[in-house]
Amino acid sequence: MHDATIVGGGCIGCAVAKHLLEQSSLDVAVVEKAYHLAEHQSGRNSGVLHPGFNYEPGSLKAQFSTAGTRRLKAYANEHDIPLDECGVVVTALDDAEERRLHDLREQADENGVETEFLGDRAAIRDHEPNAIGQAAMYCPEAASIDSQEYVYALASELKNAGVDFYMGHRVDAVRDDGSSFTIETSNGTLETRYLVNAAGLHADELAHQLGVGRGYQIVPFRGEYYELVPERASLVESMIYPVPDPDLPFLGVHYTRRTDGKVIVGPNTVLAFGREAYDNTDVSPRELYDTLTYRGFWRLMASREMAAVAWDELNKSYRKEKFVEAAQRLLPGVEKRDFARSYAGIRAQVVSEDGRLVKEPVFEHGSRSTHVLNAVSPGLTCSLPFGDHLAGEVLENFE
Ligand SMILES: Cc1cc2nc3c(=O)[nH]c(=O)nc-3n(C[C@H](O)[C@H](O)[C@H](O)COP(=O)(O)OP(=O)(O)OC[C@H]3O[C@@H](n4cnc5c(N)ncnc54)[C@H](O)[C@@H]3O)c2cc1C
Repeated sequence: MHDATIVGGGCIGCAVAKHLLEQSSLDVAVVEKAYHLAEHQSGRNSGVLHPGFNYEPGSLKAQFSTAGTRRLKAYANEHDIPLDECGVVVTALDDAEERRLHDLREQADENGVETEFLGDRAAIRDHEPNAIGQAAMYCPEAASIDSQEYVYALASELKNAGVDFYMGHRVDAVRDDGSSFTIETSNGTLETRYLVNAAGLHADELAHQLGVGRGYQIVPFRGEYYELVPERASLVESMIYPVPDPDLPFLGVHYTRRTDGKVIVGPNTVLAFGREAYDNTDVSPRELYDTLTYRGFWRLMASREMAAVAWDELNKSYRKEKFVEAAQRLLPGVEKRDFARSYAGIRAQVVSEDGRLVKEPVFEHGSRSTHVLNAVSPGLTCSLPFGDHLAGEVLENFE
């Protein structure tokens, strides 16, 4: 019998385990269905440490991303995790975007994030010689990290401290025995006094079994990337982002230099026909049925604006030239032949019953359990402070 068992060995599950060990003397275990760590969101993302200029001051996301960027950099340096502190250039292409850029800088100030105003094309060129824009903001704190190496570093720290990892154990059912839980897995049965659900794309299914989070359902949205062919990767020195449009749910196509030197472009955002449907021909009939019969999904799609975004994103998925057109807005020198298909990741995006994309982290407690229902982007950046916070909540709820 373990004191606390965490379902899900992604960055959130491992970060909760790390902080439970730091804050208590509990016997902790991690149960992971895959045979390798970081197979899903934690290993299939852009790998960007977002320092928090994008998020509303005072929100959990703003607090966690600002603190998380600094803590993850320190952790990466301590554990030899590849990290590139290259910064990001956010470029405004017209007057409306420039006005929003100023708002973004004010927001950055309130969140304690340093930015520099680049007032003309020449100033932009000093940072990104091939980007265009009438003005831009440079944020030196943004960085690129190898997210898989990060999760493996967390796991090796945990294993050294005595945490049991049950790899290749898919949790199929959890039974509440009154004072403990019996966890039925694909590879045997485990018992635990407390359960932490950090199952990412499947977290709602597990929570619903224990009567928690019934008002929420995860709708999987795939993000597909292209990468610049190696001989054109030098077109981007750091990261080039558009100014976010507050009326749109997702940031447009952008460029990110990864720690392995690749420049990835994207991601777009399309409905995935399954929670792990990484290719646009993959379909899980049961999971697709769950999405299509969910009232929250139809309420979301009923908005004309959302339907237009969905159509545009779908076009970028099936027609390379549409994706390239979007990418050329920031970097006019790129051509279709410069782009090669790269990997995809799937966001575990919670949609509420009233049809809202929930943008803040959501976690709920049951009796002797805690469920991370919406570890939305930038969940990787937020993982250390979020894990710290969750561990505190788990210990409060433990008794
Ligand atoms: C395309 C994309 C780009 C992103 N870019 C960024 C970025 O640049 N910066 C940033 O900060 N964040 C980014 N994010 C967000 C970030 O990746 C996630 O918020 C974070 O990885 C969530 O971690 P997690 O541990 O909750 O989920 P996961 O990494 O998905 O981990 C959940 C784990 O639970 C396991 N599991 C599920 N069900 C079961 C079960 N029944 N039994 C046992 N195990 C189970 C899974 O196998 C998985 O390993 C991005 C996400 C995506 C998809």
